Amino acid sequence: MKCPHCGLFNPPEAERCDCGFDFTTRNLQRSYANQPARNDGRRDDSARTDIIVGGLICSVGIVVTLVTYVVARDNGGSYVVAWGAILFGAVKFFRGVARQR
Ligand SMILES: [Zn+2]
Repeated sequence: MKCPHCGLFNPPEAERCDCGFDFTTRNLQRSYANQPARNDGRRDDSARTDIIVGGLICSVGIVVTLVTYVVARDNGGSYVVAWGAILFGAVKFFRGVARQR
């Protein structure tokens, strides 16, 4: 259906045009398109969570690697290099940093 206000073609089930014209009341309403995105704050939170969780996982991986290395050096035997945790944590950490802006 074509909007009588701005001429934009909308899907038949649309209740309101992007310009804010309401097909049911045939009045110009606040446009959905101009509404501020509601999940902006949530995105910042998840970036911060990624930085904290990623940093923790990465640190734990480094600590596990160092501790098992020291134990193996003193007592003999093999040590664990926790590459998985270090890399996973680092990737999560830097993704969070990149998304924070
Ligand atoms: Zn319109």
